[in-house]
Amino acid sequence: MQELTFVRTGQLEWRDRPEPTLVDPSDALVRPFVASRCDGDTLPLHSNVSRPMQAGIKVGMIDPVVASIVGGVPFQGPFGIGHEAIGQVTAIGSEVSGLRVGDIVVVPWAMACGTCYECGLGLTAKCSTMTAQSPGKTLAAFGFGPSCGSFGGMVTDSLRIPFADFNLVKVPDGVDPLRVAAASDNLADAWRAVVPPLQSRPGGKVLVIGGGGQSIGLYAAGLAVAHGASVVDYLDDREARLDVAEGFGASAHTIGKNRRKSILGSVPDRYDVVVEASSNAQGLRDALRALRPGGICTGTGYYVNTGTKIPVMDMYATSATLHVGVSNVRPVLPALLDFVATTGFPAERVTSLLADWDDAPDAYQSHTTKVVLHRDPLDLS
Ligand SMILES: [Zn+2]
Ligand SMILES: [Zn+2]
Repeated sequence: MQELTFVRTGQLEWRDRPEPTLVDPSDALVRPFVASRCDGDTLPLHSNVSRPMQAGIKVGMIDPVVASIVGGVPFQGPFGIGHEAIGQVTAIGSEVSGLRVGDIVVVPWAMACGTCYECGLGLTAKCSTMTAQSPGKTLAAFGFGPSCGSFGGMVTDSLRIPFADFNLVKVPDGVDPLRVAAASDNLADAWRAVVPPLQSRPGGKVLVIGGGGQSIGLYAAGLAVAHGASVVDYLDDREARLDVAEGFGASAHTIGKNRRKSILGSVPDRYDVVVEASSNAQGLRDALRALRPGGICTGTGYYVNTGTKIPVMDMYATSATLHVGVSNVRPVLPALLDFVATTGFPAERVTSLLADWDDAPDAYQSHTTKVVLHRDPLDLS
């Protein structure tokens, strides 16, 4: 079978990969028919970051922790890319009881067992059962290459899913898979950054600093409006994204392209909830300084430099909370999918390029906010 393969920056191609089989009785096989591009994938796609990152780790400019997550040679091709997909279950192991062949499911970007200590805490992307299978690795995930296990990328014809009853979540009847194409990662990431914080501060004011996590920021703005925030201010330098944010009902504000400069002067208010989606250290500092007392900031990006400065005294003065870290998708999926099913939340507005599956090598590299690939599901009835 074919797998969309990252060879090097500027070069993606279909390459053959052995078809997976059911190994454990709790496994399932899934055929993706909708796949979307995670914001983080644009990093190796659009700039040759592998060598500079290796050099940065060597000379101490980039935090060595990066190497423990993505390997000492980050983003070195070839590897199967892609970790957001909706698929059809095509086979189930003998112990799988909650799924049937033909079910349409969300495949979370990280795999988990559902029963270990970390899974019990909701930290499914840190599942100790899965990471123990790959010694020295801190993530068990699709689409990042061997540093995160042997899962491969999701833009392919068959995925082997361990602990399938736990990991796979059915798309509710009536929900268009294209609407929840990013539920595997970016849409769920936006959810965790906005919905639980707003539940603790109902009707609060929300700020989103966008542009790095290009789709995460927009999903966050939309979800904030839909969850009753009294103010949703969205900041970005790109007209097309500002328009999408406005379409969701947020107030859009243009900021300059130089993300090393503070944008605090352009921030119109102070906020209960701030989503830092610029993936930039200055953005993180601005986000923290924009909080109201007791406010909650979630950094959704990568902050890879050694010793990233954050304004701890500002945080002290406002009793601020900062969350950083990968998103634990599996625990939020039921509420997220139910919300989309009952409200019709139009997440697909963020999709800026809807492309045919076969065109993936070109489409996946587009300089656009959100790429979604699709093909027909199989008739498995
Ligand atoms: Zn991702
Ligand atoms: Zn676990």
